[in-house]
Amino acid sequence: MEITKLEAKAYPLLLFEGVRENEKDKLLEVKEIQNTNGIITAKFGDVTTQVRVDKKNAEVWGRCTCNQYHEQPCIHIKSLAVHQLESLEESEEDEEEEDAFMEYLLKQDAEKIAKDIAKDAVVVKVEPVKVKPNATRDTPELGKKKAMNMVRSAQAMELQLIRKLDDLDEQIAIKDYVAGSAPLVYEIKTKNGVRYELSIRGWIQAMLYQGNIEIVDVKFEQTGDKTVAKAIVRDTARNIQTMGFAERVSNKEFFFTTLASKAIRNALKKVISPAFEQKVIKEAIEAKLVLTLTGLREVVEP
Ligand SMILES: [Zn+2]
Repeated sequence: MEITKLEAKAYPLLLFEGVRENEKDKLLEVKEIQNTNGIITAKFGDVTTQVRVDKKNAEVWGRCTCNQYHEQPCIHIKSLAVHQLESLEESEEDEEEEDAFMEYLLKQDAEKIAKDIAKDAVVVKVEPVKVKPNATRDTPELGKKKAMNMVRSAQAMELQLIRKLDDLDEQIAIKDYVAGSAPLVYEIKTKNGVRYELSIRGWIQAMLYQGNIEIVDVKFEQTGDKTVAKAIVRDTARNIQTMGFAERVSNKEFFFTTLASKAIRNALKKVISPAFEQKVIKEAIEAKLVLTLTGLREVVEP
């Protein structure tokens, strides 16, 4: 069948983030590829596949002559979409600027931490370490460099993770999910094990469990050329009012929705008790409302 006669289906972009993290080794190699005004066509043997990535609406459109792509995208659409998302990421110009900014931030932090460590340093008497004849000697310069790089590497990973989770939260905030289908929890797999973080939807779930929490208002304030959202949340049981702020948004089309949602999330983080956070994590794992992230890049060479 001609590809042009097939109906294109829209899938949430988030779905392909999941594919990318969990099904990467199942994906097919993408070779013959053609880009016509953002519509990407590729051939997998006899099969012809088309996708279009719509970042504004956080969707991927796809159709495929295999005709196996209705509720869920077929392996061809998955492969081509992930390939396209990766090549888009590589070509995003502002990413380089962001990386430079992150480098700058990290440098600041590393210097500050080094100063703080020096300030609090306690001198203890230690036995000299026995050095094997051929081992590299641990000099003060090498020791300092290695210790600082370890901290910087951990900070870089954490920053990268925070940004990634924040971008995923944006998609959850602007998409309408069928009840009970949005991920409540992100599962982060690292070399040091597994940890869980609530998604924006997870924080709302924890708020419902805890109860007695009221969103009083969200205000947008202009500071210089930046718009900052300020959410006011009241814990009526303890009679505490808290504020949450947000200013970073990737999605410009739903700028205010996204900003307001993030400010509310940030305010909720302050009033939700860890017991309810844990309850959501436990239930999300049982209900499989977990989005797993693996393979976060090491930013700084160890
Ligand atoms: Zn297919």
